Amino acid sequence: MALESPWIESFMVGDLQMRCSVVTDLSTGDTIIIDGGGESERIISWIEEFQGIGPNWSTGPQNAEEMHEYGISKRKVVALVNTHAHYDHSGHIPYLLERYDVNWYLHEDDYFLQSLAKVSGARRGINLPEPAIATHKISDEQLLEFGNISLKILHTPGHTLGGCCLLLDISDGPDHLFVGDTLFAGSVGRTDLPNTGGDFEVLSNSIKTKLWPLDTDTIVHPGHGPLTSIGIEKQTNPYVGQSGQNTGGFIGKYL
Ligand SMILES: [Zn+2]
Ligand SMILES: [Zn+2]
Repeated sequence: MALESPWIESFMVGDLQMRCSVVTDLSTGDTIIIDGGGESERIISWIEEFQGIGPNWSTGPQNAEEMHEYGISKRKVVALVNTHAHYDHSGHIPYLLERYDVNWYLHEDDYFLQSLAKVSGARRGINLPEPAIATHKISDEQLLEFGNISLKILHTPGHTLGGCCLLLDISDGPDHLFVGDTLFAGSVGRTDLPNTGGDFEVLSNSIKTKLWPLDTDTIVHPGHGPLTSIGIEKQTNPYVGQSGQNTGGFIGKYL
């Protein structure tokens, strides 16, 4: 099944303003949280009560009344999924797992990195709980289905060993792609971070072989910074796009 008219919210959280994406099926209330890296209380308050600061960007209801108009009374969190395990993307997973008794999906090649989340946060003055352990491995080409929410996993190493992009299948409009720190509007993820397996050649190859073949109107949700599309980046990205000149010695922009 594919999702119709998706309700997608971006919460830019934590010291690195990381994008936590919340996707809800408006016909059932089923909800998944992608990259629960920080500000979990803010996200939980909004998902459950529409209380507090709310998302930075949303395609759906802004309050309970609007949500009821779609025929759902409340949202039900059914899974946590991660693009990769850097602490800004995974630091608050333990708090979310405390609140929601659901599975957490992560690529196995990032399990070691995940075990370092608390230490990495502390190095930057961020206090995090003991890291959680993913309940389920994800792998390339795997299809994760939660009701009508269908996510195709694209393993795109280069920023981290286990980095993945998550393709959300939409029935009545462009698909949405959650890319973590693999690709940004006008940039790509850092490849110089310790304990991470970053490699620019690998990253560039992942993007060119796994992302460029997707529909050009696919909406890209990077882990940091603004939304973009496959078409725009394929043409104009200075590092991996068709007009890109910069191929060597580049270490990327974000954690
Ligand atoms: Zn990041
Ligand atoms: Zn990262």
